[in-house]
Amino acid sequence: MLDNCLFCKIIKGEVPARKIYEDDQLLAFWDVAPQAPKHFLIIPKKHISGPSSITATDQEIIGALVGKGAQLAAENGIPDCRLVMNNGAAAGQTVFHLHLHVLGGRPLPWPLG
Ligand code: 5GP
Ligand code: ZN
Repeated sequence: MLDNCLFCKIIKGEVPARKIYEDDQLLAFWDVAPQAPKHFLIIPKKHISGPSSITATDQEIIGALVGKGAQLAAENGIPDCRLVMNNGAAAGQTVFHLHLHVLGGRPLPWPLG
């Protein structure tokens, strides 16, 4: 846990969030500024700063994170969804605690352009 990390603070309960799911390794909560009718984030409780910082020891938890994200999407009415990780500031990453965006509820354009 990092003292100055927003998502670590959400995990610790120091910042409120609308939680969807929690277990000993993962936490999912609705995004405060949704980019689609349904938009939630799923994060590891372990502080990993982003996809580039994933190590061999993290591979099991990252697999669980992606699978649980898709499962929670289906349970929340968006079986067809976009799963996104922004990696680095120029790619749109603003919170440097790894998170998977799960978006759906309207047609999602692809490619991004
Ligand atoms: P990024 O831009 O790093 O890929 O995504 C960060 C996401 O976190 C954004 O979609 C943003 O709306 C969301 N976010 C930022 N601060 C908060 C917060 O305090 N609570 C919640 N629930 N989401 C947040
Ligand atoms: Zn963190």
